[in-house]
Amino acid sequence: MESPYREAPQMLLCPRCAEALDRVFGGVAVCVGCQGAWISQSALDVAFGNPRWPAGRNMWWHAALDCPECATEGTVTRMDARSADAIMVDLCPSHGVWLDHGELARLMKLEAGADELLALQRKVNAVPDPDGLAQRRLRWRTELDKRRRQTAEFRAWLEMAAQRKAAEAAEAERLRAIEDEKRRQVREAQAASAAEIARVAEEKRQAELARHQRLMKQRAEIAASMNVLVREREAARGHLASVESQFAQHEKALSEIDKELDAPKPNPK
Ligand SMILES: [Zn+2]
Ligand SMILES: [Zn+2]
Repeated sequence: MESPYREAPQMLLCPRCAEALDRVFGGVAVCVGCQGAWISQSALDVAFGNPRWPAGRNMWWHAALDCPECATEGTVTRMDARSADAIMVDLCPSHGVWLDHGELARLMKLEAGADELLALQRKVNAVPDPDGLAQRRLRWRTELDKRRRQTAEFRAWLEMAAQRKAAEAAEAERLRAIEDEKRRQVREAQAASAAEIARVAEEKRQAELARHQRLMKQRAEIAASMNVLVREREAARGHLASVESQFAQHEKALSEIDKELDAPKPNPK
């Protein structure tokens, strides 16, 4: 998605009074209204050997100003409030430090009446330019109306860009909601088919269980019937033995009788 800030005018607004900042020299911009200074991390690094100068204690409950550079990127970053030598300064963790007019002189421990911007320029540049600074300050006074018009235009542009960004975010949110709904439907369909598979498996299991129980019952019935048959077979075998024994006795008796009948007959007279 295109950034609504792709054609951002290179303009910074004062975090204290919302006037335009004037880029005075490398990485240093000064408010034409309140004369506070915005010093970028690169300038801090060159001037003081520390992009997060000045060191101090974080006092978050004093944080009140938004970073002017984050604003040009379309984000609102409340700067950290930091107490350095009892002076409250405001730092953006990614961009630089905001110093109200006079704070830079106190932090740099300049003599009374010394020009803080000139002192900073001396630290940033090899060649300080007092004439150029004086001319700029003169222009700030004479061009204030023109600058205020430009600032108003820039604020309107920022407003428009923010609206466009919000509209794009809303559209992205709408598309994301549609995607979420599609994914939800797919998940639901998958869950339904998983439930169907589980249902079929359960039906099969129940059918197998019923078949097993049926076979066990049949087996028990046949086994019971077999017990009866075994007893009947025992009885039948006992009866057969008794019949055969009687048969054998009868045979023997017959044969004894026949033997006696074959002996010489007694004389009938
Ligand atoms: Zn200002
Ligand atoms: Zn920032």
